[in-house]
Amino acid sequence: MPPIRIVLCRPSHPGNIGAAARAMKAMGLADLRLVQPERFPAPEAQWMATNAVDVLEAARVHATLREAIADCEAAFALSARAREWSPQVLDVRSAAARAVEMNALVAFVFGNETAGLTNEEVFACQFLVHIPSNPQFSSLNLAQAVQVVAYELRMCVDVAMPFARVEKRATVEDLEGLYAHLEEAASASGFMAPNSRLRERWRRLFSRVPALEREEVNILRGLLKALMTPKHGGDERQE
Ligand code: SAH
Repeated sequence: MPPIRIVLCRPSHPGNIGAAARAMKAMGLADLRLVQPERFPAPEAQWMATNAVDVLEAARVHATLREAIADCEAAFALSARAREWSPQVLDVRSAAARAVEMNALVAFVFGNETAGLTNEEVFACQFLVHIPSNPQFSSLNLAQAVQVVAYELRMCVDVAMPFARVEKRATVEDLEGLYAHLEEAASASGFMAPNSRLRERWRRLFSRVPALEREEVNILRGLLKALMTPKHGGDERQE
């Protein structure tokens, strides 16, 4: 994950600061800045942070937003409301992709729970980011907005499940071997009518399986072979 900073401007509820710290840590972010928090440190922040108290304790407090983002290469302002005048508008997914692509220190800036960000704060940033939501009720809880941003950032860098087994993918050659084998079985069994579209059909079918594994092709071919052999020994049986 690139070094991405989360900035909360004038948060009123310390519980939201703690919940934001937790949301960040769960997605691998650690740089939290607070601009004029109403009350901090506070026990509610600790409770809501649970095991993310390290992120909370490392949080730095600033007098102004400008100071909090001075060393960043770009800042993304989060707003629930569309504004007539604003920097370039991005949806949250595109903003996360842009931030990760930059691979530099960038900040995501959030507003106060009731008032949001001021125009001046929005224009201190280079982008205005919106989380798609119900137009009649577009405002998320502050920490939940932080969670959505942190999650989108995570999705950009880490889409694969780290513990999922990775198998060798089938190649074009493997697939062609399977098609030839299917054709052989279909002809030998009399299943394939002379002018049938079967060949196109199974190519179409397998084109919708994007990550077919070599082992899966081998299983199908093993089955075809077994079906084509009248008396089959046990040594190729699949468990
Ligand atoms: N009533 C305020 C919203 C405050 S919610 C307003 O209308 O602006 C607290 C903060 O969470 C917002 O300032 C913004 O940074 C973020 N947030 C909440 N909902 C959001 C949304 N749909 N899109 C982008 N940011 C949002």
